[in-house]
Amino acid sequence: MRPLLELINVCYAYHSRGGETCALQDISFQVQQGEFIAVVGPSGCGKSTLLSLISGLLSPESGSISYNGDFAVDNTASEGSALREKIGYMLQKDHLFEWRTVYRNVTLGLEIQHRLDEESQARIDKMLRDYGLERFRDARPSELSGGMRQRAALIRTLALGPELLLLDEPFSALDFQTRLAVCDDVSAILHREKKTALLVTHDLSEAVSMADRIIILTKRPASIRKILELKFEQEGLSPLARRSTKEFQEYFNLLWEEMNDNEE
Ligand code: ADP
Ligand code: MG
Repeated sequence: MRPLLELINVCYAYHSRGGETCALQDISFQVQQGEFIAVVGPSGCGKSTLLSLISGLLSPESGSISYNGDFAVDNTASEGSALREKIGYMLQKDHLFEWRTVYRNVTLGLEIQHRLDEESQARIDKMLRDYGLERFRDARPSELSGGMRQRAALIRTLALGPELLLLDEPFSALDFQTRLAVCDDVSAILHREKKTALLVTHDLSEAVSMADRIIILTKRPASIRKILELKFEQEGLSPLARRSTKEFQEYFNLLWEEMNDNEE
């Protein structure tokens, strides 16, 4: 099957007056449609840089990034923007605007792109209902719990109909208990909407509880240390349910060892 996303020998360095910071070295991997990939690696190794390259915000110094096999990201205006429409980006901070209601926050992206029509409004109404936010559509973001805010941010991202979601530590600002609940929510939503996702996280247990595969990066400049494929005897478990399986413990230990070797 043709991969949705393919990186071949991608390298990237930041250039500044102080010199050159090599962030990524020789990164190659494929992501299939519908897969959930987690990316872990030491802090500062280049994980956010990797997502910026995939989203087209940065372009690789060498190597290539293709999308659906026929899509080279080289930041030429037309290709770049067509690609970006298919990619949704969700960050640690939810960036909800307090001066807008929840509803007008989730429709913001569509408004900007002049794509807010009856059909997209119906899709948003359904998501607000399905994901427990209908009662809060006219509330301000400050009236929502941390978990609800993240769900609202996710709906805003999904409203644009992206094929691929890039999630950069989206849960790390939440307290532990909320994080467990939101992981379950987000995972259920993404499976239901049949989305492909790339999640950057520094939380190893989060990676094991959510992903189909985990890409382990080395310290900066990041290269791929290992790609771990997760197989659970029982398929389709929620992240929370995965946490009480024996495989969870095994994969967690494996990942822990890789990451500690990494530190040396
Ligand atoms: P991570 O997300 O894994 O913590 P980043 O991708 O944010 O790491 O950063 C990788 C490296 O690149 C870090 O050493 C960081 O200091 C450096 N870096 C990030 N952004 C810039 C920038 N705009 N200019 C120069 N260096 C940067
Ligand atoms: Mg980062």
